[in-house]
Amino acid sequence: MDFGLTDEQEMLRATAREFVAEVCPAERAKEWDEESAVPPGLFKGMAELGWFSLPFAEEDGGDGGGPVELILIAEELGRASFDVAMCYVGVLIPGITVFDWGTAAQRAFIREQVMTGRQRLAVALSEPDSGSDAAALRTSAQDRGDHFLVNGQKMWCTGAGLPDTTIATYVRTGPREPKHEGISLLLIDPRADGVEIRRTPTLARHILGTNEVFLADVVVPRENLVGPQDKGWSVMLSNLELEKVIITGGYLGAAQATLDEMLAFAKTRHAFGRPVGTFQALAHAMADLQVEIDSARLLAYRAAWLLAQGKPCGREGSMAKLKGSETYVAAARLGMQVCAGHGFSTESVMSFRYRESIVATISGGTSQIQRNGIARSMGLRTY
Ligand SMILES: Cc1cc2nc3c(=O)[nH]c(=O)nc-3n(C[C@H](O)[C@H](O)[C@H](O)COP(=O)(O)OP(=O)(O)OC[C@H]3O[C@@H](n4cnc5c(N)ncnc54)[C@H](O)[C@@H]3O)c2cc1C
Repeated sequence: MDFGLTDEQEMLRATAREFVAEVCPAERAKEWDEESAVPPGLFKGMAELGWFSLPFAEEDGGDGGGPVELILIAEELGRASFDVAMCYVGVLIPGITVFDWGTAAQRAFIREQVMTGRQRLAVALSEPDSGSDAAALRTSAQDRGDHFLVNGQKMWCTGAGLPDTTIATYVRTGPREPKHEGISLLLIDPRADGVEIRRTPTLARHILGTNEVFLADVVVPRENLVGPQDKGWSVMLSNLELEKVIITGGYLGAAQATLDEMLAFAKTRHAFGRPVGTFQALAHAMADLQVEIDSARLLAYRAAWLLAQGKPCGREGSMAKLKGSETYVAAARLGMQVCAGHGFSTESVMSFRYRESIVATISGGTSQIQRNGIARSMGLRTY
């Protein structure tokens, strides 16, 4: 058993930590969240570091990294904010899915546009009436031979409103029953006629932004179909399996940074003539939190390692996502208690952590859905 990282992975982590300090420290991430703006130089800087080609195989034009490298970067970016981590993994992972399932032309698009950082991808799966029950999606794509005619509405599409973004859209090309059949993945250009994107006002996650996507008689060329027609559910699952593990890096980084921030406060803030961190009530709570974060990290690294070995990790990925997201929420909650009035001020980074953390157990599959998956792997049928 080896819990260590390679020299290259250690170097990657150090580079990512420096990058966050220079380009998007947490105090600035808070401001960009308030301004609903992407940190200037963020995408460009990540492209220059070669991060967008990192997870692809060398023979495919990539740098031969994999899930472990992705999660390490996500963790460091997450120290700025989870949203900042999503500016990397959220827009890149659908590109990996398209590359894995795509045609030669689609692979060329990923190589030339996504690996170079010129283009990003957003995922449009959820709809007004289908979130956890994703396979109940209704957006229809009529097969018209050389094209599909798409009509429907998508919700919560993260990053769809940014320039240079293609929307990986899950649509219904077959009957609604059985619901997992008849789903397909189409690449949709947000500038196409009939596409309208509206930003959804939210409590946080304003950097990439979440959007409604309205699709009215949108003509999508057949060559934009990714993977087999009507078998898009399998494509979606492969995206989700990778996504839930890697985004957990973002939760871990954010949770650890939240703990580091409350520790710094607890060591310098005095009450009754001593630092508040020396009160056992707070010291033990923070010690417990570090145990939780380390447990979450071990679960996440195990899942990333399994993925890197090409082994199934549905159950382990759900455990990692569940624990990582719940730990970020717990960290922010404790941070507010430790920093007390100072945390409650909206000028504090802690208030930003609190605002941002609360959706961790919802987006990317809720905690209940992760528990369902784990329970199913234990032979329990859940509803
Ligand atoms: C910030 C943010 C970003 C997002 N980004 C994207 C994106 O980029 N692309 C995209 O397609 N979607 C995105 N989503 C949507 C996200 O995946 C859904 O919000 C999530 O899957 C939950 O769906 P829902 O909100 O419709 O809740 P619902 O599915 O309506 O669930 C409501 C409640 O019921 C519970 N529940 C539902 N079914 C079960 C069950 N079987 N067992 C137990 N409990 C259950 C849920 O856990 C929840 O507590 C995003 C959401 C948010 C908030």
